[in-house]
Amino acid sequence: RPIIAIVGRPNVGKSTIFNRIVGDRLAIVEDKPGVTRDRLYGSGEWLNREFSVIDTGGIEIDGDDTLLKSVRAQAELAIEEADVIIFMVDAKAGVTASDEEVAQLLFRSKKPIVLAVNKVDNLQRQDEIYEFYSLGIGEPIGISGSHGIGIGDLLEAASSHFPDDQDEQYGEEVIRFALIGRPNVGKSSLTNAILGEERVIVSSEAGTTRDAIDTPFERDGQKFVIIDTAGMRKRGRVYENTEKYSVMRAMKAIERADVALIVIDGDEGIIEQDKHIAGYAHDAGKAAIFVVNKWDIVDKDDKTMQQFTQKIRDHFLFMSYAPVVFVSAKTKQRLQKLLPVVMQVAEQHSLRVQTHMLNDVVSDAVAYNPPPTDKGKRLRLNYVTQVAVKPPSIVLFVNEPELMHFSYERYLENKIRAAFGFEGTPIRLFTRRKS
Ligand code: GDP
Repeated sequence: RPIIAIVGRPNVGKSTIFNRIVGDRLAIVEDKPGVTRDRLYGSGEWLNREFSVIDTGGIEIDGDDTLLKSVRAQAELAIEEADVIIFMVDAKAGVTASDEEVAQLLFRSKKPIVLAVNKVDNLQRQDEIYEFYSLGIGEPIGISGSHGIGIGDLLEAASSHFPDDQDEQYGEEVIRFALIGRPNVGKSSLTNAILGEERVIVSSEAGTTRDAIDTPFERDGQKFVIIDTAGMRKRGRVYENTEKYSVMRAMKAIERADVALIVIDGDEGIIEQDKHIAGYAHDAGKAAIFVVNKWDIVDKDDKTMQQFTQKIRDHFLFMSYAPVVFVSAKTKQRLQKLLPVVMQVAEQHSLRVQTHMLNDVVSDAVAYNPPPTDKGKRLRLNYVTQVAVKPPSIVLFVNEPELMHFSYERYLENKIRAAFGFEGTPIRLFTRRKS
């Protein structure tokens, strides 16, 4: 089985991440001559593939715990044993001299390295990760050990470097999706209907207790996993019906999903709570689909669908990218349309646009509608490049970032969408100085 080693200077949070990955799987402690402190081995699993993790954080050399020596020992161990190295740095501290030293050591190993920027505890910090490009390791992945954010992305990246398994199927992309929404909109009923059997117990009372399940299944050669956090329903009905609980449940599910299916009760219509739940999917950068359920009991004519879609557009202003699908879990009406839409948006969520094409589109947009001036100065766009997928993240390099206006950013986003699609996924735009 493949081995991942976690390397980094002290205090970047290696053990927290180690514990997150390993969970409660027994860690084996092993002594090694010349090493005074123990190293920890644990096992983890990602998309059904097992691997070992080494936390090299505890290593210090006999009688000498200078920083450089201890990271050198970590790096040596990692280089010797690992198939993939997770190099951890700290977003709060920024790029430090010791990080650069570790980078130097790791470089020579010629092992695949994944750069993890820890302590990205909220989305505001997300753009602080770009300075770590300067380490020359490649794309930094923002994570938070204490909040459990980004661990999936990290393991996804690390596992992409695992040596080829005899089992081919791991190479295929599995689409993970979650049905989120307030109580009683029909999440469980939809899960059952999609899976085509009564695997989940449904009750007419809101907040029925049932077990947590993530259900893998395959449809027309595509592998899916439905993420379900029903296991959180343990504290009684009153608590389950609170908004806090719904949002927490949605957040937990979204974390591990690529696509969020935001379920809305077509009969009751949109309420404030739906907005909060949808907003979380948007902020987390997940692909999204609005699923209007219970369409069987809605009084309708030939305009009802269009009117409801408009209502969704009015209520969820920032999510105009998300397609709307009308279904009934009960009659299974239009349910067969759902998975193809999930596949489409998942594909768009991981779409990568070539830099030259992106620059062509943006320079045309700029020529057609030049950026506004501010105090006699005009924003100049020098270069545009996509730096990440899931969600697609694009950096706009400009002369003066302060001259960028929200409305102009929206204009560029619309042009980019018109050219490349990105249907169903949010896009992140970052403006950075570079002349
Ligand atoms: P959850 O709390 O979101 O998981 O909602 P449930 O799946 O438990 O469904 C809540 C109630 O709505 C149950 O009584 C279901 O039978 C009912 N329900 C779910 N989907 C539909 C639908 O498409 N049409 C109708 N008429 N009722 C539905």
